[in-house]
Amino acid sequence: MKETKEFQTESKEILQLMINSIYSNQEIFLRELISNASDAIDKYKFNAIKSEGKLPLIDHEIRLAIDKDKRTLTISDNGIGMTKNDLINNLGTIAKSGSKAFVKKLKEAKDQKDFNIIGQFGVGFYSAFMVAEKVEVLTKTINGKAYLFTSDGKDSYTIEDATRDNNGTTITVFLKKSTKETNYDNFLNEYTIKNIVKHYSDYIRYPIKMLCSHQKNKVDENGKAIENEYETISEDETLNSMIPLWRRNKNEVKEEELDSFYREKFNDNEKPLVSLFVRVDGNITYDSLIFIPSHIPYDLYSDSYEKGLELYSKGIFIKEKCQELVPDYLKFIKGLVDSPDFNLNISREILQQSPMIKKISENIEKKIVARLGELMKEDFDKYVKFFEAFGEHLKFGIYSSYGGKKDLLENLLIYHSLLNDDKYISLKEYKEKMPGEQKYIYYVSGESLEAIKLLPQIEKYRKNGIDVLLLDKRIDEFAIMMMHDFDKVEFKSITTESANEASEEEKNKIEEISNTNKRLLDTLKDALKGEVDNVVISSKLVDAPVCLTTKDGLSLEMEKTLNEQPGMEEEVKAQKILELNPEHEIFKVLADNQNDDDLIKEFASVLFDEAMLLEGREIKNKGDFISKLNNLMIKALKK
Ligand code: ADP
Repeated sequence: MKETKEFQTESKEILQLMINSIYSNQEIFLRELISNASDAIDKYKFNAIKSEGKLPLIDHEIRLAIDKDKRTLTISDNGIGMTKNDLINNLGTIAKSGSKAFVKKLKEAKDQKDFNIIGQFGVGFYSAFMVAEKVEVLTKTINGKAYLFTSDGKDSYTIEDATRDNNGTTITVFLKKSTKETNYDNFLNEYTIKNIVKHYSDYIRYPIKMLCSHQKNKVDENGKAIENEYETISEDETLNSMIPLWRRNKNEVKEEELDSFYREKFNDNEKPLVSLFVRVDGNITYDSLIFIPSHIPYDLYSDSYEKGLELYSKGIFIKEKCQELVPDYLKFIKGLVDSPDFNLNISREILQQSPMIKKISENIEKKIVARLGELMKEDFDKYVKFFEAFGEHLKFGIYSSYGGKKDLLENLLIYHSLLNDDKYISLKEYKEKMPGEQKYIYYVSGESLEAIKLLPQIEKYRKNGIDVLLLDKRIDEFAIMMMHDFDKVEFKSITTESANEASEEEKNKIEEISNTNKRLLDTLKDALKGEVDNVVISSKLVDAPVCLTTKDGLSLEMEKTLNEQPGMEEEVKAQKILELNPEHEIFKVLADNQNDDDLIKEFASVLFDEAMLLEGREIKNKGDFISKLNNLMIKALKK
């Protein structure tokens, strides 16, 4: 019986978008179908091994065939096959969670390159409709019936009973007629197909076979080749080399091979920034291939992103994302681990508790960190590229381990610094350049490098030629707090009260000014109760009249970051200190009027708001600030 079923609206939308998109890389449909075939064989093999003899172990292959007359290309496998329900659920619906996101991405994709999102959303099969006017799927599970699924990729598909000798799936792609723009006949050309397979699917673990024509010398009746007389014969050829890349000898694997392996496997247009072979022979034996992408994966920050490495046992695929192999802060890495010690039946619980997995994970982590350390020395520009994409993750690693990963990661951190233009500097380099008398590694944080450079406290460091790390990432200060020091030199924020590069002489002078202006300082402190903990004479300022500093602990930036966290119930408050520049005209005028308490009180909040603005913060009551400013102008002008 033949049943006709409508595609879901969403599936239709995807199909239409895919078919109508002018896709420059149409050949990838073959990669998608071969990859599905390989997955289907993996599944069969996995079940057969687990079944302990109930399912037969068979030789697997993927077979391609070209029929020029019918204009078809078929891809067959002897894998797990599909039941009728599978056909409906897997090919009739694209009900997967990714599909909506896929439609959105596809619509947004301005650049054709972006179309490589196909595959990431599990719409691989549908890519066949880019080149096909009709697709037939003949399939059978080992103990089930055979079915034929047919669709033109428009509104509906049909399913009917069919016959097939063995388990597996045969997909027949009826190619579209060639147009001026696209020569679909290309996909009927043996050499084209061979090249596509070699290019995209060489590492597939099962033989991809095709009947290929060869020119051979004719033979005489004795079986001897006749010179200059040729005939064309057809012979089975295996188109792929099959050996998984990671099991080959590292020195024999070319960089281009690694690049294209990564690109195909992890659906990335760009080659990886770093590729790493890890081969361990010992108590635990495993091969691992790790990649660091050259850019932030587009879905890294989405809820659906799953970290993890693929798991294999002797080349047999077990699991797609083994999360336990990757610490959170390295969640951006891609790759796989293959160990004969893995059990195919490995369950989530076993993975979580396995000391072996833990050991491998720790080892891989160390290898990655070591490789990054090398990269930093060998090719700093490339390292900067890495760091700009993923540096925050390293800082997060230090923060989230409460400093536990400090020793491992601190040498990988680089920062912008005041005296180093816009270039990065490592902590080691900073420390080496510190003048002998400098006690701390100074840093300052803010919204952006531009905003930081405008902070009043920074002027003096610039003037005195003391370098300061400029932190423009929210995680920075939190990570630094967890680190406490680098190589026994403590970190110190220049916006804390205790950061003080003043000489003894300067200190004495400040004490003197503080004493003579006690009344002014007290009145200001009183007027600003609740906002600031103290008002003091500053040794930190050059041009600005005021600045805000905090007691050690929470800085102004951290206060802001914490209060912006969703779910923060109570407002956190940094202990603020208003510092006045004794050399500034404003201070002099205030000092002259310090007996006029009312006047000082009136403008205390203007000073505070001004300091907030200088620190790049919002002021609470803009109306109040403006009316007080206006009063001040009126007073000045009336005089
Ligand atoms: P993906 O492979 O990314 O999951 P596809 O659209 O390519 O998405 O395939 C959807 C599903 O159809 C697969 O997950 C698989 O369950 C099933 N499928 C596709 N091709 C085959 C095949 N050759 N043999 C068995 N099942 C298949």
